[in-house]
Amino acid sequence: MKKIAVLTSGGDAPGMNAAIRAVVRTGAQKGFEVYGVPLGYSGLIEGKLIPMGPRDVGGIIQKGGTILGSARCEEFKTEIGRKKALRALNGNGIEGLVVIGGNGSQTGSFFLSEMGFPVVGVASTIDNDLVGSDITIGVDTALNIALEAIDRLKVTGSSHQRAFLLEVMGRKCGYLALMAAIAGGAETVTLPEVDVDPEEIVEVLAKAYERGKSHAIVVVAEGAKYNATKLAEYFTEHHEEIGFALRVTILGHVQRGGSPSAQDRILGSRLGAGAVNCLEKGEYGVLVGWVNNALKTTPLKEVVGKKKPLDMELFELARILD
Ligand code: ADP
Repeated sequence: MKKIAVLTSGGDAPGMNAAIRAVVRTGAQKGFEVYGVPLGYSGLIEGKLIPMGPRDVGGIIQKGGTILGSARCEEFKTEIGRKKALRALNGNGIEGLVVIGGNGSQTGSFFLSEMGFPVVGVASTIDNDLVGSDITIGVDTALNIALEAIDRLKVTGSSHQRAFLLEVMGRKCGYLALMAAIAGGAETVTLPEVDVDPEEIVEVLAKAYERGKSHAIVVVAEGAKYNATKLAEYFTEHHEEIGFALRVTILGHVQRGGSPSAQDRILGSRLGAGAVNCLEKGEYGVLVGWVNNALKTTPLKEVVGKKKPLDMELFELARILD
């Protein structure tokens, strides 16, 4: 019998619960003893383990967030912290660990696997910046939430001839902003990957107003040079009259909550089960992701310290379709 553990780390993402459920149930089916670690790497350092059986993960697939809780743990970034975690894992007889999380979390997995511990990562972050997965758990739900916000803002914007600067999450990656802009039919979008001159945005808005549009949407990535607040300040300083009345909406953590979409539940289930299969086969130090419509493992050393590039053709598409 193999004892394995699972944790969720970093920013929570809708669909993490589906992945936890898949790890626990696939593990049980293979005859493993499965333990949940509460609060990510903090719980790991403290040696906290909760035995989890198939029935403990009933009724969670439809829930956002993570039932294990997540945390940002500075101590794990230090070798001393990681050694403590390793001691706790070995002391409790754990033989394999599944880490469900994003870029930072998988950097942690990499370091732990370099210390000789069998770790498998599961690609999960709403930012979609992880190398090794075309799409990560949580992205689809977060995108749909942003889309719903755009649709709603268009309704109210039309009644008042307003332009909205809608700021969406994604840290230093513009994927969510770009996709939301295309799917939501936004006038324009700003991204961390492209230096957009605020004057360009003024021009787009002015033209939209001249064309007689009753509303306008600018999707602003939180990591762009000008976030929504800075952009609004720029407009106030440099342009008294742009036609539309300007409003700022910051979606923030709203984007992370809510019930996971079908896609995120399925992705979470597939990647979670895939991670346990890796542990069974002895394939360690890898990230389980989704590439070209299939499950794919990528060595963690090829994942860490990198950021998946944005498809710039889609940026052009967003501009053409405004
Ligand atoms: P995400 O996994 O969503 O990108 P973070 O970047 O906040 O979230 O990382 C989550 C946790 O992963 C951190 O709090 C820390 O415990 C661990 N981590 C992040 N970067 C490193 C690193 N360079 N070395 C070791 N652990 C790290």
